[in-house]
Amino acid sequence: MDKILLDLRELGDGVSRRVLEGEAASLALGRDDYTLHSPLRIVLDVDKSEGEIMVTGEVTVPAQVECGRCACLFAEEVRGRLRARYIRTRGDAKPKCALSDDGVFEISRDERVLDLTDEVRETVCLALPIRALCSPECRGLCPTCGANLNEEACCCERRQGHPAWSALEKLKNGGRET
Ligand SMILES: [Zn+2]
Ligand SMILES: [Zn+2]
Repeated sequence: MDKILLDLRELGDGVSRRVLEGEAASLALGRDDYTLHSPLRIVLDVDKSEGEIMVTGEVTVPAQVECGRCACLFAEEVRGRLRARYIRTRGDAKPKCALSDDGVFEISRDERVLDLTDEVRETVCLALPIRALCSPECRGLCPTCGANLNEEACCCERRQGHPAWSALEKLKNGGRET
């Protein structure tokens, strides 16, 4: 799988902007309800100095999403903010390692190319809601007949309403069953 790489050799000191494009497949999100499409686009502001590299930016990726209530498919652009700081160490060259869980890493002083794949994956993961919904008002599917309640009102809805509603109905009717 392709990695998302930032080439540090072509960056001067100070702030510069870089736009990277990558394959959505590189992220392997592990979400059944989100299918990501290429290109994955990352617009980065990189602040480079001798001792550290500060990376901030926005990740956008087109996705096909399956609603968690009505199972309809819809298109959405996922957007997330990326922020990471890479501190250069003086010691021997060693692979990038995390110093904390909020995006601070240690890299070797002569690291030439930064692999941002994990950071981008995490950014996209955090941007996704726990449950995808086509709209906050989505009414979902009827648990009895499977009708899409956004499109039609089925008959079982009235007969087998939510238990709380039936209890209310009963009160309204002076305690008699309807
Ligand atoms: Zn829905
Ligand atoms: Zn129904």
